[in-house]
Amino acid sequence: MTANPYPLGLRLDGRRVVVVGGGVVATRRVPALLDAGADVLLVAPELTPALRARADAGRLRWVPRRFAPEDLDGAWLVQVAIDDPAAAESISVAAAERRIFCVRADDRTAATAWTPAVTRHGPVTVAVLGGGDPRRAMTIRDAIRDLLAARLVPGDAAPTHGASAAEGTTGATEATGGRQTGRVALVGAGPGDPELITVKGWRLLTAADVVVADRLVPGLLLDELRPDVELVDASKIPYGPSRAQEEINQILVDRALAGAFVVRLKGGDPYVFGRGGEELLACAQAGVPVTVVPGVTSSIAAPAAAGIPVTHRGVAHEFVVVSGHVAPDSAASLVRWDAVAGLRGTLVILMGLKNLAAITDTLIAHGRSPQTPAAVVQEATTGTQRVLRSTLGAVAAETLAADLRPPAVVVVGDVVGALDG
Ligand code: SAH
Repeated sequence: MTANPYPLGLRLDGRRVVVVGGGVVATRRVPALLDAGADVLLVAPELTPALRARADAGRLRWVPRRFAPEDLDGAWLVQVAIDDPAAAESISVAAAERRIFCVRADDRTAATAWTPAVTRHGPVTVAVLGGGDPRRAMTIRDAIRDLLAARLVPGDAAPTHGASAAEGTTGATEATGGRQTGRVALVGAGPGDPELITVKGWRLLTAADVVVADRLVPGLLLDELRPDVELVDASKIPYGPSRAQEEINQILVDRALAGAFVVRLKGGDPYVFGRGGEELLACAQAGVPVTVVPGVTSSIAAPAAAGIPVTHRGVAHEFVVVSGHVAPDSAASLVRWDAVAGLRGTLVILMGLKNLAAITDTLIAHGRSPQTPAAVVQEATTGTQRVLRSTLGAVAAETLAADLRPPAVVVVGDVVGALDG
């Protein structure tokens, strides 16, 4: 019976790790080493295209030949990713002489270190060793990953104070008045289907103390919040009474300054007609750290859900997303409808139903053909999705006749029929 392995988390930042081999095993092993900040030296006569791309990008150093013992000079760890047993054994011997731990893909019993099956959940890393059975390790790892994703593990910490640059944090990170400042995440919830939130958005949502949600946010995402989470409904019904944006900004800032982790959950993507920028500025001005998590925007997802690609080879090389909430002839309009009418590609109009007749008239008046295919997609990606296919000339009247209502996206362009058989 062999002794138990002793688990460790290696901090490889800036430390040399030698990987021998340039095939599929190395391709799978290298990303986690780079993610850990290791100084990777790759020794192999040939590389897979994925490894080659990393070498070309300067992310690792490639020595294009077979292994030589001097390659291990200065290394802290070596990973053997070749399947020639004699060559692998000679690397093991060279590593043992230098007291360098050696992972062997070809023969785990000959290795001095084993790589566990891993799942990552924000700052948490779960590593599983299967007692000599890698498949058992993966099965257990998968089960733990499912538990984490389903939020069944208590004490799932909010992101640590002052997130990494990779999270796109803006704003001050100092504590205010001696009190620990909380933080705000502006999270895109996706277009409607609760499964269309990003993995990161979901993780932050499950860690929130306070959730400030839009009207367009999928209700099922909110159903699943812990009972102790404070839910603030920032509903803004179009053209109806609306809670002032300043008030929402104030709630975000106040709760965060009181120490809470606040998730501002917004339909689609936070920066597509979502006023996310104003909220970010308000937080930054108050010294509250902000993270932005992009979302799947309805401007692309709603056409897709109706079988309409926003671009298609040979059909459209551009797509333009426009807000229709201001009438084209209004002094407040910032859209050059004449220029938009001159485009050949795809036009996606959000918040456009109320002004649809005026918008389509304006596009036609400036030269877009009334025969151009057009579609309206209401409540895309939800169980109540409705799709109307029409033409630019007829879509406004048909939308009225069919009683289509917001939220809906209007798509204009030849892509509307591009996938029709
Ligand atoms: N930030 C959002 C857009 C906010 S503006 C995003 O990126 O998707 C609100 C408009 O988005 C609605 O009036 C409608 O035009 C569109 N919209 C949002 N969700 C939609 C859905 N599920 N189906 C169709 N249109 C939608």
